[in-house]
Amino acid sequence: MESTHTTYLKIDLNALVHNFNFIKSQLKNDTKILAVIKAFAYGHEANAIAKKLQEQNVDYFAVAYAQEGVKLRESGITTPILVLHPQRNDAKSCVEYKLEPNIYSFTMLEIFRNYMIGNQIENFPIHLKFNTGLNRLGFKYADIDDLINQVKSSKALKIKSVFSHLVASEDHSERAFTLGQISQYEKIVSKIEKHIDYKFIKHITNTSGTLNYPEAHFDMIRTGIGLYGYGNEDKWTQQLKNVGSLYTTITQIHTLQKGESVGYNRGYVAKKETKTATIPLGHADGLPRTWGKGKSFVSVNGKKAHVLGNVCMDMTMVDVTNIECNEGDQVIVFDSQKTVEEIAVNVGTISYELLTAISQRVVRIVVD
Ligand SMILES: *Cc1c(COP(=O)(O)O)cnc(C)c1O
Repeated sequence: MESTHTTYLKIDLNALVHNFNFIKSQLKNDTKILAVIKAFAYGHEANAIAKKLQEQNVDYFAVAYAQEGVKLRESGITTPILVLHPQRNDAKSCVEYKLEPNIYSFTMLEIFRNYMIGNQIENFPIHLKFNTGLNRLGFKYADIDDLINQVKSSKALKIKSVFSHLVASEDHSERAFTLGQISQYEKIVSKIEKHIDYKFIKHITNTSGTLNYPEAHFDMIRTGIGLYGYGNEDKWTQQLKNVGSLYTTITQIHTLQKGESVGYNRGYVAKKETKTATIPLGHADGLPRTWGKGKSFVSVNGKKAHVLGNVCMDMTMVDVTNIECNEGDQVIVFDSQKTVEEIAVNVGTISYELLTAISQRVVRIVVD
Protein backbone atom coordinates (compact mmCIF):
# COMPACT_ATOMS: atom_id res chain seq x y z
CA MET A 1 0.00 0.00 0.00
CA GLU A 2 1.25 3.46 -0.87
CA SER A 3 1.44 5.83 2.04
CA THR A 4 2.96 9.21 2.72
CA HIS A 5 3.62 8.02 6.28
CA THR A 6 6.58 5.80 7.06
CA THR A 7 5.03 4.47 10.28
CA TYR A 8 1.34 3.68 10.38
CA LEU A 9 -1.28 1.29 11.66
CA LYS A 10 -3.44 0.20 8.75
CA ILE A 11 -7.04 -0.47 9.75
CA ASP A 12 -8.90 -2.80 7.42
CA LEU A 13 -12.64 -2.14 7.69
CA ASN A 14 -13.52 -4.99 5.32
CA ALA A 15 -11.88 -7.39 7.77
CA LEU A 16 -13.87 -5.76 10.56
CA VAL A 17 -17.14 -6.37 8.71
CA HIS A 18 -16.11 -9.97 8.02
CA ASN A 19 -15.48 -10.51 11.74
CA PHE A 20 -18.75 -8.85 12.70
CA ASN A 21 -20.61 -11.12 10.29
CA PHE A 22 -18.77 -14.19 11.49
CA ILE A 23 -19.72 -13.48 15.10
CA LYS A 24 -23.29 -12.75 13.99
CA SER A 25 -23.37 -16.13 12.20
CA GLN A 26 -22.80 -17.80 15.58
CA LEU A 27 -25.93 -16.20 17.07
CA LYS A 28 -29.65 -16.72 16.85
CA ASN A 29 -31.38 -14.22 14.57
CA ASP A 30 -32.74 -12.06 17.35
CA THR A 31 -29.64 -11.96 19.58
CA LYS A 32 -28.34 -8.41 19.83
CA ILE A 33 -24.68 -7.47 19.38
CA LEU A 34 -22.81 -5.02 21.57
CA ALA A 35 -19.46 -3.97 20.11
CA VAL A 36 -16.82 -3.09 22.69
CA ILE A 37 -14.80 -0.18 21.36
CA LYS A 38 -13.09 1.00 24.53
CA ALA A 39 -9.45 2.09 24.49
CA PHE A 40 -9.61 3.54 20.95
CA ALA A 41 -11.29 0.33 19.76
CA TYR A 42 -8.43 -1.72 21.18
CA GLY A 43 -6.00 0.67 19.52
CA HIS A 44 -7.75 0.54 16.15
CA GLU A 45 -9.29 4.05 15.81
CA ALA A 46 -12.66 4.07 17.55
CA ASN A 47 -14.48 6.61 15.35
CA ALA A 48 -13.85 4.74 12.11
CA ILE A 49 -14.65 1.37 13.68
CA ALA A 50 -17.83 2.72 15.27
CA LYS A 51 -19.02 4.36 12.07
CA LYS A 52 -18.52 1.14 10.12
CA LEU A 53 -20.29 -0.99 12.74
CA GLN A 54 -23.13 1.49 12.98
CA GLU A 55 -23.61 1.03 9.22
CA GLN A 56 -23.87 -2.72 9.94
CA ASN A 57 -26.69 -1.97 12.40
CA VAL A 58 -24.82 -3.04 15.50
CA ASP A 59 -27.22 -2.77 18.47
CA TYR A 60 -24.96 -1.27 21.12
CA PHE A 61 -21.51 0.09 21.75
CA ALA A 62 -19.56 -0.08 24.99
CA VAL A 63 -16.68 2.07 26.13
CA ALA A 64 -14.87 1.97 29.46
CA TYR A 65 -15.03 5.67 30.35
CA ALA A 66 -17.52 8.44 29.67
CA GLN A 67 -14.92 10.56 27.88
CA GLU A 68 -14.61 7.84 25.25
CA GLY A 69 -18.35 7.94 24.70
CA VAL A 70 -18.34 11.73 24.41
CA LYS A 71 -15.80 11.49 21.56
CA LEU A 72 -17.99 8.99 19.73
CA ARG A 73 -21.05 11.23 20.07
CA GLU A 74 -19.03 14.22 18.84
CA SER A 75 -18.06 12.23 15.77
CA GLY A 76 -21.73 11.58 15.00
CA ILE A 77 -22.37 8.13 16.46
CA THR A 78 -26.05 7.72 17.40
CA THR A 79 -26.17 4.04 18.45
CA PRO A 80 -26.73 3.50 22.22
CA ILE A 81 -23.47 3.56 24.19
CA LEU A 82 -22.94 1.71 27.47
CA VAL A 83 -20.23 3.16 29.71
CA LEU A 84 -18.69 0.20 31.52
CA HIS A 85 -16.83 2.04 34.25
CA PRO A 86 -18.39 5.44 34.86
CA GLN A 87 -16.89 7.60 37.58
CA ARG A 88 -18.65 9.59 40.27
CA ASN A 89 -18.67 12.90 38.37
CA ASP A 90 -19.96 11.49 35.07
CA ALA A 91 -23.73 11.92 35.49
CA LYS A 92 -23.79 15.26 33.69
CA SER A 93 -21.91 14.07 30.62
CA CYS A 94 -23.99 10.88 30.51
CA VAL A 95 -27.12 13.01 30.28
CA GLU A 96 -25.70 15.56 27.86
CA TYR A 97 -24.26 12.96 25.49
CA LYS A 98 -26.86 10.22 25.93
CA LEU A 99 -24.44 7.75 27.45
CA GLU A 100 -25.86 4.87 29.47
CA PRO A 101 -23.96 4.13 32.67
CA ASN A 102 -23.17 0.77 34.15
CA ILE A 103 -24.40 1.05 37.74
CA TYR A 104 -22.12 -1.25 39.70
CA SER A 105 -22.39 -0.01 43.30
CA PHE A 106 -24.81 1.64 45.71
CA THR A 107 -22.60 4.73 45.61
CA MET A 108 -23.01 5.06 41.86
CA LEU A 109 -26.72 4.32 42.11
CA GLU A 110 -27.20 7.15 44.57
CA ILE A 111 -25.13 9.60 42.53
CA PHE A 112 -27.01 8.93 39.31
CA ARG A 113 -30.42 8.77 40.95
CA ASN A 114 -29.92 12.05 42.80
CA TYR A 115 -28.64 13.75 39.68
CA MET A 116 -31.71 12.69 37.68
CA ILE A 117 -34.10 13.69 40.46
CA GLY A 118 -32.32 17.05 40.82
CA ASN A 119 -32.70 17.69 37.10
CA GLN A 120 -36.24 16.30 36.80
CA ILE A 121 -35.14 13.58 34.44
CA GLU A 122 -37.24 10.41 34.28
CA ASN A 123 -36.51 6.91 33.02
CA PHE A 124 -32.81 7.53 32.48
CA PRO A 125 -31.38 4.28 31.08
CA ILE A 126 -28.99 2.39 33.33
CA HIS A 127 -27.36 -1.03 33.20
CA LEU A 128 -26.97 -3.09 36.36
CA LYS A 129 -23.75 -5.03 36.72
CA PHE A 130 -23.54 -8.13 38.89
CA ASN A 131 -20.37 -9.66 40.21
CA THR A 132 -20.41 -13.41 39.66
CA GLY A 133 -16.75 -14.09 40.36
CA LEU A 134 -14.47 -11.54 38.73
CA ASN A 135 -14.60 -9.44 41.90
CA ARG A 136 -13.92 -6.27 39.96
CA LEU A 137 -17.22 -4.36 39.72
CA GLY A 138 -20.81 -5.18 40.53
CA PHE A 139 -23.59 -6.00 42.97
CA LYS A 140 -24.12 -9.36 44.67
CA TYR A 141 -27.21 -11.56 44.65
CA ALA A 142 -27.89 -10.50 48.24
CA ASP A 143 -28.09 -6.83 47.15
CA ILE A 144 -31.05 -7.37 44.83
CA ASP A 145 -33.90 -6.43 47.22
CA ASP A 146 -32.25 -3.21 48.33
CA LEU A 147 -31.10 -2.35 44.86
CA ILE A 148 -34.48 -2.82 43.20
CA ASN A 149 -36.24 -0.94 45.98
CA GLN A 150 -33.93 2.01 45.47
CA VAL A 151 -34.38 1.96 41.69
CA LYS A 152 -38.16 1.79 42.12
CA SER A 153 -38.29 4.49 44.79
CA SER A 154 -38.44 7.18 42.08
CA LYS A 155 -39.04 7.44 38.36
CA ALA A 156 -35.51 8.67 37.76
CA LEU A 157 -33.95 5.47 36.44
CA LYS A 158 -34.95 2.71 34.09
CA ILE A 159 -33.12 -0.61 33.91
CA LYS A 160 -32.08 -1.16 30.29
CA SER A 161 -30.04 -4.26 30.99
CA VAL A 162 -28.72 -6.55 33.71
CA PHE A 163 -25.33 -8.08 33.02
CA SER A 164 -22.28 -9.83 34.38
CA HIS A 165 -18.79 -10.63 33.07
CA LEU A 166 -17.08 -14.00 32.69
CA VAL A 167 -13.72 -14.59 34.33
CA ALA A 168 -12.13 -17.25 32.11
CA SER A 169 -14.34 -17.91 29.11
CA GLU A 170 -11.35 -18.71 26.87
CA ASP A 171 -9.98 -21.29 29.30
CA HIS A 172 -11.53 -24.72 28.82
CA SER A 173 -10.00 -25.97 32.07
CA GLU A 174 -12.20 -23.41 33.89
CA ARG A 175 -15.41 -24.64 32.26
CA ALA A 176 -17.01 -25.63 35.56
CA PHE A 177 -16.31 -22.17 37.00
CA THR A 178 -17.78 -20.48 33.93
CA LEU A 179 -20.92 -22.62 34.02
CA GLY A 180 -21.23 -21.70 37.70
CA GLN A 181 -21.10 -18.00 36.78
CA ILE A 182 -23.76 -18.51 34.13
CA SER A 183 -26.12 -20.27 36.52
CA GLN A 184 -25.55 -17.61 39.21
CA TYR A 185 -26.40 -15.01 36.60
CA GLU A 186 -29.61 -16.86 35.68
CA LYS A 187 -30.68 -16.79 39.32
CA ILE A 188 -29.97 -13.08 39.52
CA VAL A 189 -32.02 -12.17 36.45
CA SER A 190 -34.95 -14.37 37.38
CA LYS A 191 -35.12 -12.72 40.79
CA ILE A 192 -35.00 -9.24 39.25
CA GLU A 193 -37.65 -10.19 36.70
CA LYS A 194 -40.01 -10.91 39.58
CA HIS A 195 -39.62 -7.35 40.84
CA ILE A 196 -39.62 -5.42 37.56
CA ASP A 197 -42.66 -5.22 35.31
CA TYR A 198 -40.85 -4.29 32.10
CA LYS A 199 -38.33 -6.14 29.95
CA PHE A 200 -34.59 -5.58 30.21
CA ILE A 201 -31.71 -6.92 28.11
CA LYS A 202 -29.71 -9.83 29.53
CA HIS A 203 -26.05 -10.36 28.61
CA ILE A 204 -22.99 -12.03 30.04
CA THR A 205 -20.60 -13.21 27.29
CA ASN A 206 -17.52 -11.51 25.88
CA THR A 207 -15.96 -12.80 22.62
CA SER A 208 -14.67 -16.11 23.98
CA GLY A 209 -17.81 -16.62 26.03
CA THR A 210 -19.90 -16.03 22.93
CA LEU A 211 -17.92 -18.55 20.90
CA ASN A 212 -17.50 -21.19 23.60
CA TYR A 213 -20.84 -20.95 25.44
CA PRO A 214 -23.64 -20.54 22.89
CA GLU A 215 -26.13 -21.46 25.61
CA ALA A 216 -25.21 -18.23 27.41
CA HIS A 217 -25.97 -15.68 24.72
CA PHE A 218 -29.24 -14.59 26.40
CA ASP A 219 -30.54 -11.42 24.63
CA MET A 220 -27.21 -9.86 23.65
CA ILE A 221 -23.53 -10.71 23.36
CA ARG A 222 -20.58 -8.38 23.89
CA THR A 223 -17.62 -8.63 21.60
CA GLY A 224 -14.37 -6.70 21.62
CA ILE A 225 -11.28 -8.66 20.62
CA GLY A 226 -13.23 -10.82 18.14
CA LEU A 227 -14.10 -7.80 16.03
CA TYR A 228 -10.39 -7.12 15.62
CA GLY A 229 -9.70 -10.70 14.55
CA TYR A 230 -8.85 -12.62 17.70
CA GLY A 231 -10.84 -15.59 18.99
CA ASN A 232 -8.38 -16.40 21.80
CA GLU A 233 -8.02 -19.87 20.25
CA ASP A 234 -6.73 -20.94 16.81
CA LYS A 235 -9.98 -22.66 15.97
CA TRP A 236 -11.81 -19.33 16.14
CA THR A 237 -9.03 -16.96 15.11
CA GLN A 238 -8.67 -18.85 11.80
CA GLN A 239 -12.23 -17.84 10.94
CA LEU A 240 -11.52 -14.20 11.60
CA LYS A 241 -9.55 -11.64 9.62
CA ASN A 242 -6.81 -9.35 10.82
CA VAL A 243 -7.91 -5.73 11.16
CA GLY A 244 -4.80 -3.83 12.33
CA SER A 245 -1.37 -4.04 10.66
CA LEU A 246 1.61 -2.04 11.86
CA TYR A 247 4.20 -0.93 9.35
CA THR A 248 7.33 1.18 9.48
CA THR A 249 10.49 1.81 7.45
CA ILE A 250 14.23 1.39 7.90
CA THR A 251 15.72 4.82 8.49
CA GLN A 252 19.41 3.90 8.75
CA ILE A 253 21.67 0.87 8.47
CA HIS A 254 24.91 0.46 10.44
CA THR A 255 27.58 -2.18 10.44
CA LEU A 256 29.05 -3.04 13.85
CA GLN A 257 32.45 -4.61 14.23
CA LYS A 258 32.98 -7.32 16.82
CA GLY A 259 32.98 -5.69 20.29
CA GLU A 260 30.97 -2.62 19.27
CA SER A 261 27.62 -2.13 20.92
CA VAL A 262 24.22 -0.78 19.93
CA GLY A 263 21.73 1.29 21.89
CA TYR A 264 21.49 2.61 25.42
CA ASN A 265 23.54 0.95 28.11
CA ARG A 266 25.32 -1.06 25.44
CA GLY A 267 22.33 -3.41 25.45
CA TYR A 268 23.83 -5.54 22.70
CA VAL A 269 27.52 -6.11 22.05
CA ALA A 270 28.38 -7.57 18.64
CA LYS A 271 30.00 -11.01 18.76
CA LYS A 272 30.86 -10.70 15.09
CA GLU A 273 30.30 -8.22 12.30
CA THR A 274 26.61 -7.30 12.59
CA LYS A 275 24.36 -5.28 10.30
CA THR A 276 21.74 -3.26 12.18
CA ALA A 277 18.67 -1.39 10.98
CA THR A 278 17.16 1.49 12.90
CA ILE A 279 13.37 1.78 12.74
CA PRO A 280 11.35 4.84 13.80
CA LEU A 281 9.21 3.14 16.41
CA GLY A 282 9.98 2.86 20.11
CA HIS A 283 8.43 2.38 23.51
CA ALA A 284 6.55 5.67 23.18
CA ASP A 285 4.79 4.15 20.18
CA GLY A 286 3.87 0.94 21.95
CA LEU A 287 6.82 -1.37 21.48
CA PRO A 288 7.58 -1.95 25.15
CA ARG A 289 11.13 -2.46 26.40
CA THR A 290 10.20 -6.10 26.98
CA TRP A 291 10.70 -6.50 23.21
CA GLY A 292 14.40 -5.74 23.69
CA LYS A 293 17.41 -8.03 23.81
CA GLY A 294 16.15 -10.39 21.15
CA LYS A 295 12.83 -11.11 22.82
CA SER A 296 10.84 -9.89 19.86
CA PHE A 297 11.24 -9.21 16.18
CA VAL A 298 9.96 -7.34 13.18
CA SER A 299 9.85 -8.57 9.63
CA VAL A 300 12.13 -7.16 6.92
CA ASN A 301 11.72 -8.38 3.36
CA GLY A 302 10.03 -11.54 4.57
CA LYS A 303 12.60 -12.42 7.25
CA LYS A 304 12.56 -12.04 11.02
CA ALA A 305 14.84 -9.30 12.35
CA HIS A 306 15.25 -9.56 16.13
CA VAL A 307 15.51 -6.52 18.34
CA LEU A 308 19.09 -5.70 19.34
CA GLY A 309 19.67 -4.29 22.81
CA ASN A 310 17.16 -1.98 24.45
CA VAL A 311 14.14 -0.44 22.74
CA CYS A 312 14.54 3.36 22.83
CA MET A 313 11.68 5.82 23.27
CA ASP A 314 11.39 6.68 19.58
CA MET A 315 13.52 4.08 17.82
CA THR A 316 14.48 0.44 17.86
CA MET A 317 17.49 -1.29 16.33
CA VAL A 318 17.06 -4.71 14.77
CA ASP A 319 19.44 -7.34 13.43
CA VAL A 320 19.49 -7.48 9.63
CA THR A 321 22.87 -9.22 9.29
CA ASN A 322 21.42 -11.96 7.10
CA ILE A 323 18.75 -9.92 5.37
CA GLU A 324 19.08 -8.13 2.05
CA CYS A 325 17.74 -4.67 2.77
CA ASN A 326 18.25 -0.97 2.28
CA GLU A 327 17.41 2.26 4.02
CA GLY A 328 13.82 3.10 3.07
CA ASP A 329 12.66 -0.51 2.92
CA GLN A 330 9.36 -1.34 4.53
CA VAL A 331 9.30 -3.13 7.88
CA ILE A 332 6.30 -5.12 9.03
CA VAL A 333 5.87 -5.12 12.79
CA PHE A 334 2.78 -7.26 12.45
CA ASP A 335 0.19 -7.90 9.80
CA SER A 336 -1.48 -11.03 11.13
CA GLN A 337 -3.05 -12.26 14.33
CA LYS A 338 -0.49 -15.09 14.32
CA THR A 339 2.41 -12.65 14.56
CA VAL A 340 0.75 -10.63 17.30
CA GLU A 341 0.10 -13.79 19.29
CA GLU A 342 3.66 -15.02 18.75
CA ILE A 343 5.09 -11.70 19.95
CA ALA A 344 2.69 -11.68 22.90
CA VAL A 345 3.95 -15.09 24.00
CA ASN A 346 7.60 -14.00 23.53
CA VAL A 347 7.21 -10.96 25.75
CA GLY A 348 4.85 -12.51 28.29
CA THR A 349 1.62 -10.71 27.49
CA ILE A 350 -1.62 -11.09 25.51
CA SER A 351 -2.87 -9.70 22.19
CA TYR A 352 -5.14 -7.23 24.05
CA GLU A 353 -2.16 -5.50 25.66
CA LEU A 354 -0.04 -5.34 22.50
CA LEU A 355 -2.88 -3.82 20.47
CA THR A 356 -4.02 -1.29 23.05
CA ALA A 357 -0.40 -0.24 23.69
CA ILE A 358 0.03 1.21 20.19
CA SER A 359 0.14 4.85 21.09
CA GLN A 360 -1.72 7.73 19.56
CA ARG A 361 1.52 8.96 17.97
CA VAL A 362 1.21 6.19 15.39
CA VAL A 363 -0.89 7.41 12.48
CA ARG A 364 -3.96 5.30 11.72
CA ILE A 365 -4.72 4.77 8.05
CA VAL A 366 -8.19 3.42 7.51
CA VAL A 367 -8.87 1.40 4.36
CA ASP A 368 -12.33 0.38 3.28
C1 LIG B 1 -13.65 -5.39 27.64
C2 LIG B 1 -14.92 -6.04 27.98
C3 LIG B 1 -15.57 -6.90 27.07
C4 LIG B 1 -14.94 -7.34 25.76
O1 LIG B 1 -14.20 -8.52 25.95
P1 LIG B 1 -13.51 -9.27 24.70
O2 LIG B 1 -12.81 -10.42 25.33
O3 LIG B 1 -12.57 -8.29 24.09
O4 LIG B 1 -14.60 -9.65 23.78
C5 LIG B 1 -16.83 -7.36 27.39
N1 LIG B 1 -17.40 -7.03 28.58
C6 LIG B 1 -16.80 -6.24 29.48
C7 LIG B 1 -17.49 -5.94 30.77
C8 LIG B 1 -15.54 -5.73 29.23
O5 LIG B 1 -14.92 -4.97 30.15
